[in-house]
Amino acid sequence: MTSLQRNSVHMSYSRSCHSQVLVLNCGSSSLKFAVMNPHNGDIAISGIGESLGQDEPVVSWKSHGERHSQTLPENIGHTEVIRFLVEKILSGHPELREQLIAIGHRVVHGGEKFSHSVLIDDAVINAIQECVALAPLHNPAHLAGIDAARSAFPNLPQVAVFDTAFHQSMPRHAYIYALPFALYRDHGIRRYGMHGTSHRFVTERAATLLNLSVDEVNIISAHLGNGASITAVHNGRSVDTSMGLTPLEGLVMGTRSGDVDPGLLMHLGNRMDYALHEINDLLNKKSGLLGISELSNDCRTLEQAASDGHDGAQLALDIFCYRLAKYIGSYHAVLPQVDALVFTGGIGENSSLIRQKVMTQLAGIGYTVDAQKNDRARFGEEGPISTDQSAVTLVIPTNEEWVIARDAAELVPPDTPNHDPRTRE
Ligand code: ADP
Repeated sequence: MTSLQRNSVHMSYSRSCHSQVLVLNCGSSSLKFAVMNPHNGDIAISGIGESLGQDEPVVSWKSHGERHSQTLPENIGHTEVIRFLVEKILSGHPELREQLIAIGHRVVHGGEKFSHSVLIDDAVINAIQECVALAPLHNPAHLAGIDAARSAFPNLPQVAVFDTAFHQSMPRHAYIYALPFALYRDHGIRRYGMHGTSHRFVTERAATLLNLSVDEVNIISAHLGNGASITAVHNGRSVDTSMGLTPLEGLVMGTRSGDVDPGLLMHLGNRMDYALHEINDLLNKKSGLLGISELSNDCRTLEQAASDGHDGAQLALDIFCYRLAKYIGSYHAVLPQVDALVFTGGIGENSSLIRQKVMTQLAGIGYTVDAQKNDRARFGEEGPISTDQSAVTLVIPTNEEWVIARDAAELVPPDTPNHDPRTRE
């Protein structure tokens, strides 16, 4: 090998270590961002713009361990936050700006069009636009973010990573509602599922921990945050999930009801004079842990209140765990084999109480919690929480940003500045 060859190998290696992806997650009034190394998941800068389009928008961010915050002019939106990111935050870190190879966008709904992440072009933008009816709060915000990022970084490839993509492998019998078939055929009304990026991360990580390849791992993945969903994974692919056409279906969540009798909607409308928007508000924002407890949607607050004797808090936690255990039981019926039950999301990663209650409820199908391991598994700890005799149960902290960064890096076309072919490995 000549010294020139050696140098170029070395340069390629150092680029591979130092390339960065800007991960963007645009909500209706917020924009989360992170500059991340796609190879190891290290975060150089992370932050959030909040109260966008309102009186006092504020951007807070952390870089190299230091926290910063700045109020922005009223009513500013995604474009201005991205401009602030470029002109004020990234300008202080020219080395990171140099190393950026792509922008990865979280997109909530890709309908049936996307089963994988894709490079964004005009056709992809049109397809995301066509899915606005399925995600009216999220997809318009994503489009605003994509538009702003394309203007700010015209030379960098932009990649869309869809929450729905992982669930596109569901079979028809899992995603078709028992409704007139024309509603699916003509209007796309079916179950899509969400949190796919998290369930995918957890699946890949579980395969590693279980010493299996991803395409042979079978897990039940419970993502329990403010939103919550559970997925049955067969041979590394989602075969059923609890969220449906919208994120409302399935488990009890922070403020969402999860499954209810659809007859409830007619009852509320016809007998109790609720307008449709009030029913929407009730089911999405006033139900779940908050609605039952009449106290809070926050699991920590409820655990504390329940231990202090608050009956509503206790009932909310009981129902949350009971309904979750029922779903886990039903996914044992869906899967021919279960290699592990996995807990993730803020509650799944931290609440030993919820995990212990759920596993106790599932004693009849072979689950026994290891109290010590369960107590230790919190604040980012990963590992088993079941006894040696039990069905395997793992806690795996999720990392959706890293999936987005990796997908974006893998899709960078070879002729892009800073392109690193090793990211395709
Ligand atoms: P989001 O869906 O908004 O991303 P998170 O995944 O951050 O939500 O999860 C938020 C939930 O996690 C809240 O209900 C919070 O109370 C719960 N949580 C976080 N830490 C703990 C903890 N130590 N014990 C119990 N619950 C916790």
